[in-house]
Amino acid sequence: MLKRIGARAGPDERARMLDAESIESYRTALLKRRETLQPARTESADSVELDQSRVGRVSRVDALQQAAMHAAAQRLRGAELAGITRALQRIETQTYGWCLQCGEPIATARLDVNPTAEYCVSCAERRET
Ligand SMILES: [Zn+2]
Repeated sequence: MLKRIGARAGPDERARMLDAESIESYRTALLKRRETLQPARTESADSVELDQSRVGRVSRVDALQQAAMHAAAQRLRGAELAGITRALQRIETQTYGWCLQCGEPIATARLDVNPTAEYCVSCAERRET
C-alpha cells in the first residue's frame, strides 16, 4: 500500500545487489573488450614499420607526433587492460559493482557504459577535481 519504491530514486540506485545474470553479462562484455584490446599489440608493431618506410615523405615533426600518439594509445590500452583485469578480479571476489571509495553500489547505467568503473558517480567526480 505504502509502496513508494521508484518515486525518487531511480531503479539503478535501488538495485543494491547485482544479480548473477547481470554480473555474467558484464563479465562477458569485459572479456570481449579484452579480446579486442590484446591483438592490437602486433598490429601496431606492423604500422610502425610501415611508417618508417615512408619516413622520407613524413616530416620529422609528423613522425614524432605519430610516435607520441602511438605511445599514448599504447598507454591507454595498457590502462584499460589493467582496469579490465581488476574488474574481473572484483567479479571473482564478489565485490564487483561496489564503489571502491565509499562502498555504495555503482549505478548499473554507469556500469553499462563502462563495465570497468571502480567508483560511483559522486566519488568519480570528486576524484577528477
Ligand atoms: Zn562512491
